[in-house]
Amino acid sequence: MAWSNNPDRHYPSDWQQRRRLVLKRDNRVCHACQHGGADTVDHLVNIRRGGTHDLANLAPIHGKARCAECGINCHAVKTARESHAARPSRYRTPEAHPNRHPGLLPGK
Ligand SMILES: [Zn+2]
Ligand SMILES: [Zn+2]
Repeated sequence: MAWSNNPDRHYPSDWQQRRRLVLKRDNRVCHACQHGGADTVDHLVNIRRGGTHDLANLAPIHGKARCAECGINCHAVKTARESHAARPSRYRTPEAHPNRHPGLLPGK
């Protein structure tokens, strides 16, 4: 599985504590839609883009539960948007492997 190579998964050991702190600090107001009831903590600057797990880079967002007012899962929307935006042309594109064979060569 590719999970273990994902830097997003490398949360600090006190992550749960930070998570609680941030939710409390911002009154569970989602930083994406400004509504309350956020249940997840999000990185304002994505880890892959150089963000940190610092409290200053963390804010509540609707993650597991949808926003009662918007009816959307803000975190999923944000992640989808980022995965589109964070693909500059110089970035490696797994689809465009010049050396990839169209199929497996049998008998080798
Ligand atoms: Zn939201
Ligand atoms: Zn909302």
